[in-house]
Amino acid sequence: MRGLTERVFDQLTPAARVQVAIWTSTPFFLVVLVGHGWALADDAMRGALRPGVLLALQALVAVCTLSNLVIGVRLWRRRASPEQVAWPTLLTCLSIGGVYSVIAVLAGTFTAPTSLVLLGVLAIGLLLFPLRPMLIAYGLCTAVLLGHDLGVQVGVWPYAPALTERVFQGHEPVWWFSVWRNFVLAAACPVLLPLIMLLFARLDRMHGRLNQLSRTDGLTGLANRRRFMEVLASELARCRRTGAPLCVALLDIDHFKQVNDRHGHLAGDAVLRDLAAILMASVRAPSDLPARIGGEEFALVLPDIRQDEAMAVCERLRERVASHAFRDDGDGRDGAGPLALSISIGLAEAAEADTDRILVRADQALYRAKDSGRDRVCVAPRAQERP
Ligand code: GH3
Ligand code: MG
Ligand code: MG
Repeated sequence: MRGLTERVFDQLTPAARVQVAIWTSTPFFLVVLVGHGWALADDAMRGALRPGVLLALQALVAVCTLSNLVIGVRLWRRRASPEQVAWPTLLTCLSIGGVYSVIAVLAGTFTAPTSLVLLGVLAIGLLLFPLRPMLIAYGLCTAVLLGHDLGVQVGVWPYAPALTERVFQGHEPVWWFSVWRNFVLAAACPVLLPLIMLLFARLDRMHGRLNQLSRTDGLTGLANRRRFMEVLASELARCRRTGAPLCVALLDIDHFKQVNDRHGHLAGDAVLRDLAAILMASVRAPSDLPARIGGEEFALVLPDIRQDEAMAVCERLRERVASHAFRDDGDGRDGAGPLALSISIGLAEAAEADTDRILVRADQALYRAKDSGRDRVCVAPRAQERP
């Protein structure tokens, strides 16, 4: 279902979305025009209807159909263009929502199946369009429906103003009204269910995307601090259960402020992205987790390896960074050309008695690495070895 919504909806341009709405609603509008025209021309049917009201509805449907067709034809050339089409979108939403609401009102909001179709129309709108034109169209539909109900309550106009009592012979409507109702229902149901499922699938996917965004660092694409803390907590819990080892490394770029000062912030950002790529390439996927937990501070969760193996990973990483020629994507303040950098790393292995303090211990090791000259890896003493 997710793949389907992606293919069908996400690849549509704004102009193509308007086209879909127009070409799916127009056949129903034409059926309404023809059906009502036929009813008005037939003596038996006309007697059960209010012709004046129906003629006004015919005029509204004709105007909206025409305006939609003009929009559809004019947008046809722009159907592949990614640019927004705000006014045509709003007009289309208003005309489609308006026509369905007025038909629902005129035939009786609670007893006519057009209300059900209106739900499907709103689902299509939510799938296709941004919230703003949809909210305006929702406002219009709600105003029409509530205005009608209010008018019925205070006796300004009758319920189902297009129909007379002669539509209902006893409790049952006349045959042609039943046929019309069944036609609308039959047309609505097979469309409505898949649409609502598509809508839920889309909401589900948007929720997944938001969830992923809230755990990803925007600059580097690595896990952010939130995800790092979650993974660390769950890995620590797993290690406590299974007795497996776990190491954490905290990394900090040496004299990074100078990179910004000499080469500009853009160059600094490019260095951060390059470093993230080196980190990703240097760890085991998917078990190890590299993360950006602060401005120029990174971290690694290294499950299932002991301190000496983790030390080898960190040393390799430190050497890679020291020998890497970072791109200078900045403003060329200090001359373009590759940049040389180093990192300091603090490494700690979770000791069984002291798993939760691992971050503090790794941080203390990082400070020692900085204090003792930078460009090095320092290991935190095991919890029981601490002085
Ligand atoms: P040390 O070796 O002691 O770590 O020195 P340092 O200059 O790296 O450390 P300090 O913490 O003083 O400076 C970190 C700098 O990182 C300061 C800030 O301007 C920079 N920084 C933080 N986040 C970003 C970012 O997203 N982009 C860029 N370009 N710079 C950042
Ligand atoms: Mg720092
Ligand atoms: Mg630093």
